[in-house]
Amino acid sequence: MMLDLFGGFGEKGRTSLAVSSGNDRILLDIGIKVGASGADYYPALNGSIADIDALFVSHAHEDHVGALSWLLSRGYGGPIFMTAETRDEAPATLAGYADPRDLRQFPFPEDRITLFEPGDTLTSGNLAIRTGRSGHVVGGVWFAVDDGESRVAYSADVVPDSNVFVMDTIPRCDLLVLDASYGADSVPGTARARQISEWVASHSDGCLLPTPLSGRSLELIAALPGPFAIHAGMRDSLNAQISAAASLLPGVSELLLARLQGAADWTDADPLPSMPLLADDGMGEAGPSSRLLPRADQAGFPVLLTGHLPSGSAGDLLHKAGRADWVRMPTHPTLSGNVDIWEKAGRPAALGHSCAAELLGDLQSRIPSLRTQCRTGQRIAVPEARKR
Ligand SMILES: [Zn+2]
Repeated sequence: MMLDLFGGFGEKGRTSLAVSSGNDRILLDIGIKVGASGADYYPALNGSIADIDALFVSHAHEDHVGALSWLLSRGYGGPIFMTAETRDEAPATLAGYADPRDLRQFPFPEDRITLFEPGDTLTSGNLAIRTGRSGHVVGGVWFAVDDGESRVAYSADVVPDSNVFVMDTIPRCDLLVLDASYGADSVPGTARARQISEWVASHSDGCLLPTPLSGRSLELIAALPGPFAIHAGMRDSLNAQISAAASLLPGVSELLLARLQGAADWTDADPLPSMPLLADDGMGEAGPSSRLLPRADQAGFPVLLTGHLPSGSAGDLLHKAGRADWVRMPTHPTLSGNVDIWEKAGRPAALGHSCAAELLGDLQSRIPSLRTQCRTGQRIAVPEARKR
């Protein structure tokens, strides 16, 4: 079994990899890279599209699905597997991140999507593809691909210690592709949530919290210390996410529904509110937050950023200028979480995706089998199966 690393290795963004065995070849995720331009914005597929049998999408964030229209424009004609939640959210992601010409010619292909549920085992040729809940967003999954001889597990984006979501255990495998987004950050999610709660409490008379529509928004709502407002355009999606009780930890759905019902609706025509305001996306690059971030900055309205800020993004520029604060709300594994995933997978050989090369060394000190030299563009062999 072979892996082709098309994006997200030694870098954050454009996550995409192919698994090949015999005549079978499948693609896992097809992301774009915010902040990159030209060919680097897309996975490095280099013409090898015709031999891909099927595409599996882990979730609808731009770094995992943003290049779907681009892939279709390059002639991909096979099936596309995703969950219903990913299907519902992906068109908005493409609207924000696809090339407008690609998107006009190759809009989200509703009729070509094969739906599955997290926990299903799918097949493509002789490959069996297990899936499980990621804990990252509602409807988000990891994949474990088995050809009968060896198994590779691709975590996609996972959160093993979420305060909101459930993550299923990734099975034992011969090669594990970890979500290394945070390198070796050892501050657990509960401590970060407390810091954010304290920051918001000290700005309770008005502040802006840019956030992705899915996933982190729920983590933030769970952490907010008092009354808050949401951009009105988020309400339907948040309601749907919070109602998906099977994805959430016990009791969390009821708690978040009550908080959301109590939240005020805010629209672009309103003055900046006298309470914390959530608006998507998280980087100020698309959606209402792309309009709100400059407006808040001009008005001296406090801003708290809580996630990844690609270099040169609106959020990044504001933060670097000292005009916005930043506290990470973990929506990827912190150090103990990744060590735990690796141990439960049987301490296999490992790669880290979505991580700058220089941070992988820190992670290797706790995960000795982590291969820190793997980069986008490389082809690597999955080790022979050991006794599992
Ligand atoms: Zn994600």
